[in-house]
Amino acid sequence: MNIGTHGGSCSHSCCLRVQNLSVKIGSESILTDVNMHVHCGELVALIGPNGAGKSTLLKAILGQQEYSGVISFSVPGQRNRHAKIGYVPQTPSFDPGDPVTVADLFACCMSKRPAFLGISKAMREKILACLQRVSGEELVDKRVGTLSGGELQRVLLALALEPLPNVLILDEPLSGVDVEGMEALMEMLDDILKTYDLSIVMTTHDFGMLHKYADQVYLIDRGVVCSGTAAEVLDSRSFHQVFHRKGGI
Ligand code: ADP
Ligand code: MG
Repeated sequence: MNIGTHGGSCSHSCCLRVQNLSVKIGSESILTDVNMHVHCGELVALIGPNGAGKSTLLKAILGQQEYSGVISFSVPGQRNRHAKIGYVPQTPSFDPGDPVTVADLFACCMSKRPAFLGISKAMREKILACLQRVSGEELVDKRVGTLSGGELQRVLLALALEPLPNVLILDEPLSGVDVEGMEALMEMLDDILKTYDLSIVMTTHDFGMLHKYADQVYLIDRGVVCSGTAAEVLDSRSFHQVFHRKGGI
C-alpha cells in the first residue's frame, strides 16, 4: 500500500512519520496521541504487553485500521513521493496437509496466471531470485504447511520484499522461531537494512535482541509510554512500571 508525503522537516534522508495518531474501536480508545519517526536504514522495535495496541498501530500504518492523526512519508527533494510498505503478519498458520508449495504461494502473489496452470520457467526463476534474498532457494518446492517457524518467516519475508518496499513491517516475526532461528532472522534483517534502501518496523517480546539490532525502541501501552535507545527504554522507570503492573508480557 502507499502512504502520501508530508511537508514537515526532518533532517534524515527519508522518514515515515506518525503524528498524533489515535485509534478508537467502538467506544474504546485503543491508542492515543502516538508520535513516531522512522528513518531510512533504521530498525524500530515496538514493545509492550499483550493488548497494548502494537498490532493496531501497524495496521493503521498499513491502512487496515481507521485512525485520526497523520501518517506520512517523505524523501527530501522529491515531491509527491509515496511509501511502499511490505508486511509480514503475525504468525499466519498453514495446514500441514495443504498441498500449496512455496512456489505456488509466490506465483499466486506475483502472477495473474491461475496457479493450476502451472508455473512458467520465467516465474520460477523470479521466485528463486526472491528466495535468494533470504537464503531460501532450497525451500521453493516445500509445502508451506510443513515449514518450520524460522523457514516460514524467511519465506514471508521474501514475499514482503517483492517489490522492494520503503518500509518493511513485521508483526512478532520472532514468535514461533527457536533461539538459533531468532538470531539468524535478526542477522538477516540487519543485512537487508544494509543492502536495501528501506527501514524496518517490528513488534517483539524478545527484549534480548534490542540492544544489538534496534536503532529505536518504542514502549507502547495504549500510546507511546517512552522511546529511545534499547538501553534508555529497558532501563526506564516506565518499562518496569508497565511490565510490573501487567505482571509480565
Ligand atoms: P497488541 O498487538 O499490542 O497485543 P492489539 O493491537 O492486537 O495489541 O490490540 C489492542 C487492543 O485492541 C486489545 O484490547 C484488543 O482486544 C483491541 N482490539 C484490536 N482489534 C480489535 C477489533 N477489531 N475489535 C475490537 N477490539 C480490538
Ligand atoms: Mg499484536
